Amino acid sequence: MEFPQHVLVVPFPAQGHVMPLMKLAYNLAYQGVKVTFANITFVEAKILAAMSEADKEQCPIRLVSYSDGLEACPEERNGPGLITSLKKVMPKNIEKLIEQINQSDNKEPITCVMADLTAGWTLQVASKMGLKQVAVWPAGPASLVQVSTMKNELICLSEGIPAWNSWELTWSTPGNPALQKSLFEFSVAINQAVKFAAENGTIVLCNTWYELDSSSCSMIPNILPIGPLAAIRTLRPSGGTFLSQDSTCLSWLDKQPSNSVIYIAFGSTAVFSQKQFDELALGLELSGHSFLWVVRPNIVSGSSHEYYPDNFLERIASRGMIVKWAPQEKVLAHPSISCFFSHCGWNSTMEGVSNGVPFLCWPYLWDQFDNKKYICEMWKVGLALDCDEDGIISRHEIKTKINNLVTNDGMKMNAKKLMEDAKKSVSQGGGSYENFKSLVKYLGA
Ligand code: UDP
Repeated sequence: MEFPQHVLVVPFPAQGHVMPLMKLAYNLAYQGVKVTFANITFVEAKILAAMSEADKEQCPIRLVSYSDGLEACPEERNGPGLITSLKKVMPKNIEKLIEQINQSDNKEPITCVMADLTAGWTLQVASKMGLKQVAVWPAGPASLVQVSTMKNELICLSEGIPAWNSWELTWSTPGNPALQKSLFEFSVAINQAVKFAAENGTIVLCNTWYELDSSSCSMIPNILPIGPLAAIRTLRPSGGTFLSQDSTCLSWLDKQPSNSVIYIAFGSTAVFSQKQFDELALGLELSGHSFLWVVRPNIVSGSSHEYYPDNFLERIASRGMIVKWAPQEKVLAHPSISCFFSHCGWNSTMEGVSNGVPFLCWPYLWDQFDNKKYICEMWKVGLALDCDEDGIISRHEIKTKINNLVTNDGMKMNAKKLMEDAKKSVSQGGGSYENFKSLVKYLGA
């Protein structure tokens, strides 16, 4: 008997992975594909807490969860222990989860596993169970090409891809050998997953469009670029955020003149020293511009409080707004936004590009340095900030680069052009649009 396709989507349990995979999952569900979404229990609780009742009622996918094996030591979830534990427990827990789902839902059992390559061991589980597999790479194609090579020398893979020095590779964290070791092991696991996917002819979905980085895309076997997801205007909102988004900033933005507000957000994991945080605050003040700044509760290292310079909040009250977590895509689409001060996470990069907003780049970890190169050198839609001799980005550097960016009409034009290209690709007849259609067909909906 023929069963309809039932896809189990499995992200890596981090904010920048769960959000795009959930967006993809919602969209597949809107196309008629039956989708179940597997989070670790801890992440699912956060997502549910951040969702409104209406969001929960309208959620077109089923949420399920499994253990990450860290209930007894939850502090490990913020460090390398998470990856080690996931590698150990995830394959058997996902297998068990699939068996449970299939027992309770034997009319529509799981037939396909769509797994994040950063949790690539799930693909092997699917293969062992005889299920269809689709891989997802939620970051940029260049960083996937990079983890697929692993040479310790100046790497120049193609004329169209900026060369890397060994200290610029994704796992490189000079000054933090323990983190570097863990990130290197993580890269090795991704590398193995990529090989496994290539050997099995598995489709690799990527949140980009082909022409944005054809050099990298052409080096990845079976890549299917379906993005940028952020440029798909017909998308209905999807969940996946770990903190609830403070929408009061949207009515604040409504009151600001067009093209006047700097949006500052550094994703879900970047942290600052207190000294650096102060320089950032004072640089924003010194710039004289209006701003909307996302300050997560844990953004200053070693502190769970927000420590602003003396009287800072009073001084900027008339032109600055600070929130703990913003509805970022809506913010970036708002006409009042003039530029995006970003850590260059891939989702943020695609969201900025999809809205034609120029960037100020302050990368923190992993692929963000690479993304900065693309933003500044390849696409010419942003400026990077430079450190002083103490490794600090000073308030004066921040003020100068903000002013240089907001007066740079060339960069604004490049950003608008890139936005048009992004929109074209996800609109009827565009490359990503057609690729998404073929994915839906492949899934049998
Ligand atoms: N984000 C958000 N509100 C915020 C800041 C970020 O919803 O205030 C979302 C953002 O839209 C993006 C994701 O969080 O989709 C962050 O992913 P990214 O890859 O940019 O960075 P990461 O968190 O993985 O470092």
